[in-house]
Amino acid sequence: MTAIAFDAQDRRALLERFIRYVKVDTQSDENSTTSPSTMKQKDLGRLLADELKALGCADARMDEWGYVWATVPANLPAGHPAAGKVPAIGLIAHVDTYFATAGGGVKPHVIEGYEGGDVALPGDASQTITDGDNPNLARCVGHTLVTSDGTTLLGADDKAGVAEIMQAVAWMRKHPGFHHGEVKIAFTTDEEVGRGTEHFDVSAFGARYAYTLDGSDIGEIEDETFCADSAVVTIEGHDVHPGYAKGKMINAVRIAAAIIERLDESFLPETTDGRQSYLHPYAIAGDVTKIDLKLLVRAFTEEELHEREDALRAVVAEVRDRFPGGRINVAVSESYRNMSYKIAEDPQVLEVAFEAVRRMGLEPVRRAIRGGTDGSRLSFMGLPTPNLFNGSMNFHGKKEWVALEWMEKSVETVVNLMEIWVEKTGSSQ
Ligand SMILES: [Zn+2]
Repeated sequence: MTAIAFDAQDRRALLERFIRYVKVDTQSDENSTTSPSTMKQKDLGRLLADELKALGCADARMDEWGYVWATVPANLPAGHPAAGKVPAIGLIAHVDTYFATAGGGVKPHVIEGYEGGDVALPGDASQTITDGDNPNLARCVGHTLVTSDGTTLLGADDKAGVAEIMQAVAWMRKHPGFHHGEVKIAFTTDEEVGRGTEHFDVSAFGARYAYTLDGSDIGEIEDETFCADSAVVTIEGHDVHPGYAKGKMINAVRIAAAIIERLDESFLPETTDGRQSYLHPYAIAGDVTKIDLKLLVRAFTEEELHEREDALRAVVAEVRDRFPGGRINVAVSESYRNMSYKIAEDPQVLEVAFEAVRRMGLEPVRRAIRGGTDGSRLSFMGLPTPNLFNGSMNFHGKKEWVALEWMEKSVETVVNLMEIWVEKTGSSQ
């Protein structure tokens, strides 16, 4: 185990890198059907591919969908016990920023030696990051913080992750005596619109395990996501001229209302948190004749997921009895599953992440995501991919901020990962 040290020059380079990337507008568009959803995402992709080439990744390239792919070749000397055996490890971050918050013309605001207290954003007097809402601010006194000017998001989600991966590559190049296996890099587009793995070819990527750097607080490791289904309740009524409808009309609008009214209030998104499950009626469209009611179903286990779906079917059965002439159908389709099911099949990908955080003298914080990640989809595509912290806070909003020192710890985690995979492989021979 070697001591991995970052100096002031590395820290400066990381900050400059991050600022260079957040200034490129990469906002994705949920209404677009092209891929990438916005062509401007390729502006950053091109820049990253060029920088990776300059850092010695000869195969660095951007593909037609704006994904950037590159390899840092293994440098283990012949005869090293892990040479030729250490698995290729993937590092993944997304270049796009959230579609619903202004993301162009980002003016990063750098605060060196943060002294504590609220942080007023210089471009909009109504935007202040308060220490009351941000308990992490108190943990970052003395650190270098970066915010936007308050008129746009910052884009640390996920350009902090992009900058950290790039800085890890730069660090490895600067320290050729640091021995590592093959490192595979992927920067993806359109994560924020749920299309981040649409064109991800896991076998071409060539990594055995991977990590996304798309989490938040220092030391956090996320290996769980929701299990997610979506349900569509189709209600067919019977329309008659309302003046002559007595005893004849069957109103799908009222049937829908009766279903929604009967949903258990203790299992809604607005009444649950932590590891609790929910059933969320989120869209309704139609008229007396026909209504489509859409619901999201979310839970951390498949058993609980099916409990929520059974609860919906029980409500529908009750309402069917009350409106005997109406036709109600429930169709459930699978969206994604908790990635911990996949990671549990081969838990070393997670154990190495814990060790990488501990090696910095920090206690890893294991968290479950009340949502999905690209990593959860990749895990089910055969590439186990837990999510690691990138040091940024308040994702998707104008009050997004990041601590440079936390970003630095993320780079260190990445380098530690590579070191631990080599040790683990070498010692198991
Ligand atoms: Zn993200």
